[in-house]
This record gives sequence, structure tokens and C-alpha cells, in this order.
Amino acid sequence: VLEFRGSSIAIPRALDLSSARPPRVGTRSTAAGTSTTGRGRIAAAILFRGAVPEGELARLENFLCEALAGTDKSLYLLGAKPVVVAALRAWMAVYYPHTRVAGARNGYFTQDEEPQVIADIAASKADVLLVAFGAPRQDVWVAEHLQATGVKLAMGVGGLFDYYSGNIPRAPQWVREIGMEWAFRLSQEPRRLWKRYLCGNVVFLSRLMWWKLSGTRKT
Ligand code: UDP
Repeated sequence: VLEFRGSSIAIPRALDLSSARPPRVGTRSTAAGTSTTGRGRIAAAILFRGAVPEGELARLENFLCEALAGTDKSLYLLGAKPVVVAALRAWMAVYYPHTRVAGARNGYFTQDEEPQVIADIAASKADVLLVAFGAPRQDVWVAEHLQATGVKLAMGVGGLFDYYSGNIPRAPQWVREIGMEWAFRLSQEPRRLWKRYLCGNVVFLSRLMWWKLSGTRKT
């Protein structure tokens, strides 16, 4: 994909099907596919395909960091709080020492500062952009600005930088494997997340069931 010479590619995080008005991501850039790492992925896979292929449970982000190691291709890390970005760079140096990081910037900037953020990314000449603003904002941002950054491949990664930097504890591996990381996160930050997960999951599952029963298949 990194040798791709055409227009830029944006990989939205698993689309938030609980949203009544899903953002029109991919309208100006090409959506090559969705990451199957979000909540509901197993419910969706079981309902529509009967099984979850093991490979789809692997994090695409890890794969990308590994794929870039030892190459001349580089990453730009955009998003999360300044302290998290600093810790993330240190974490990358330990776990992916051979992956080039062309630049990194926190995700707290004003609209006036946005042109400078885009210019910084363009100047870095990064090949891959990971954006951690949370869904769906990150996907909308990528759809609107990817072309201007000159980056060929971008992907929304949600709270990934917080996990990698150690800012937020991750659920145990087995909890992640059964698709229940959302419940672990809810137990950590109930006030902020109860509405998103409890209400959102009910709407999400209802929509999935509707599509299943009505024979509509969204890809
Ligand atoms: N964030 C940001 N700028 C903002 C708001 C949030 O960079 O204006 C970051 C925040 O610090 C966190 C991430 O976006 O690192 C959101 O993570 P969340 O867990 O909400 O995303 P999810 O994985 O649930 O999509």
C-alpha cells in the first residue's frame, strides 16, 4: 500500500453504527476499508459471517508499525494530550526502535492553529498518519485534510496513544479477545463513558439486528 501512487487512502476506525447521522467520511479521500478493532466487531462478524477470522483481531496499528520498521517510510503521530505524546515517543523508541517517526503533535489545537498543524505534517514528509482524536472526529478530520497533508495513508486510532504511553491501562488480553474491552473501559471511567457505551451499544446492536433481519448488508 505504501508504494501506492494514486490518491490518498483513509482507513476509518470501525464506523460508529450507533450514530444516528454517521459522518460522511471518505467523501474526499478514498476509504479503503475499515478497521475491525472497534466495539461491536465480534457481534457484527458473528451476525454477518458466522466467525471472526483470527487475523482480524490483530491491531492494524501494530501491523503498520512493524511493517514500517527498517524501511525509509515514516509515521506521523497526531492526537492526545502533550504529556501523552511525549510518553508515546519514548514508548515507540523502546518497542519500535527501527520505525521512523517523522513527527508528532498533540490533538489540542484551535481552528486558527490548524493550518500550521497541516503544514507541519506536510513538511515532515511522513508516509503514514495515525490520528487519535476519538471517533468520529478523527475520521472526519482525515477525510477533510488528508489531501492537504500529502500523506498517502491515514488511519484513526482512537485512544491508542493513551494505551501505548501507559496513560490508560488496557484490559487484560482475554477481555480484549472476547470483544469486551469497552466494559473494562467503562469500569475505569464510568462518568465519561456510560452514555457512549450503554446507550450506544444498544442502538448499535439494534441496527445490526435490523440489517441482518432485513437482509441489508453494510460494508
Ligand atoms: N483528543 C484529542 N483532542 C481533542 C479531544 C480528544 O487529541 O480535542 C484525544 C484524547 O486525548 C484521547 C483520544 O482523543 O487520546 C480519544 O480517545 P477515546 O478513548 O475517547 O477514543 P475511542 O478509542 O473511544 O474512539
